[in-house]
Amino acid sequence: MPSADHNGTDRCYLCPRKCGARRGEGEVGVCGETNVMRVSRIALHPYEEPPISGRLGSGTVFFCGCSLRCVFCQNKDISRGAASGKQYSPKALADELFRLEAEGASNINLVTPTHFTDAVIETLSIAKPRLSIPVVYNTSGYERVSTLRSLEGLVDVYMPDFKYASPSLASLYSSAPDYPSVAIKALREMFRQVGRCQYGEDGTLKRGLLVRHLVLPSCRKDSIEALTMLSEALPVSDILLSLMSQYTPEFALDCPHKSLHRRLTRFEYESVAQHALALGFDGFTQSLSSAVKDYTPQFK
Ligand code: SF4
Repeated sequence: MPSADHNGTDRCYLCPRKCGARRGEGEVGVCGETNVMRVSRIALHPYEEPPISGRLGSGTVFFCGCSLRCVFCQNKDISRGAASGKQYSPKALADELFRLEAEGASNINLVTPTHFTDAVIETLSIAKPRLSIPVVYNTSGYERVSTLRSLEGLVDVYMPDFKYASPSLASLYSSAPDYPSVAIKALREMFRQVGRCQYGEDGTLKRGLLVRHLVLPSCRKDSIEALTMLSEALPVSDILLSLMSQYTPEFALDCPHKSLHRRLTRFEYESVAQHALALGFDGFTQSLSSAVKDYTPQFK
């Protein structure tokens, strides 16, 4: 069984925070979790991008905790240590993955799994040989290449964010000035593992890389630069881009950054979408008015 990189110690170095928490002894890392795998929700989810949701929904597993901790996080109840999180052993989680497949899930969608990579590897080592649906790794993009390498062969579709182009913005909103360079290396590694997008007869994604970018208010220029960086790092015709407009200020009202206290304007979103089109990306845009994830047809 593959194993994740801990620099040969009992401390955790799974993610780029490299905080060195002794999670096995009950210490909590920057991600907010010990090494006991905790899950907030397991369910069919119909609101992902069409080739991920498929007909009945994506089989989502929402892990508690997150190592990026963005100030505007739209999922804070889960990412900041959900009180309702339930502990799972790898065997118990593998049984849940089989249940999702039996319910008609288009895939197994592991949401923010990075800080539980050890347990995820154990889970997938049990489940993967018996699953006939793809495994999707749904992440913030803030990943160590060495940790991703330990997942090679266990993941079919990578679905990372690429959030920021500028170190200063990544520092301001996620306390991670290294995010742009770290994420670009991570995305390249993901693409190396899974290659160009491949689809089943039903149009669902069976293998490949789908990159998400959420346009933030007052960050139009950074979004444009982020898409340019992405187009220079990866072959745009071989990946999918999901350009998201669903930013909701309600989750950021307690943060001091006033520019996050409003919704995105049509001009901001459409100018970024135009740039994506000009760069030749294939993928999805969202309706600006959608409070739910309402994906409109592909760029092409
Ligand atoms: S996964 Fe958590 S404990 Fe491990 S290095 Fe990252 S933040 Fe620290």
